[in-house]
Amino acid sequence: MTVQPEQETASRMGCWCCGSLYPEAELVRLGQHPEVGVCLACARWLQRRALARYDEHHPTPAARARAAVQAVRAAVIRKGWHERGVLGALLRRIDRHLP
Ligand SMILES: [Zn+2]
Repeated sequence: MTVQPEQETASRMGCWCCGSLYPEAELVRLGQHPEVGVCLACARWLQRRALARYDEHHPTPAARARAAVQAVRAAVIRKGWHERGVLGALLRRIDRHLP
């Protein structure tokens, strides 16, 4: 167990989505509500949800392709393949480049 300096711990803020603590540099603030900050992982999750919602209302071939990719992604997560050693590392790397 490591002990973090008190100053570093005090400067961390809670993500309004997941509740974890992050330094200010790793939070994204809302424009009209700067008191609200979400961490980078949650911001990416929100972006994916927003894009999926947009695609639901604007069906295009690209939207259908993204939905298919997300369905495969959901199946991989449901089966836990993303947590399996080398295969999991490869799948997580691929996920970083998915829409
Ligand atoms: Zn978060």
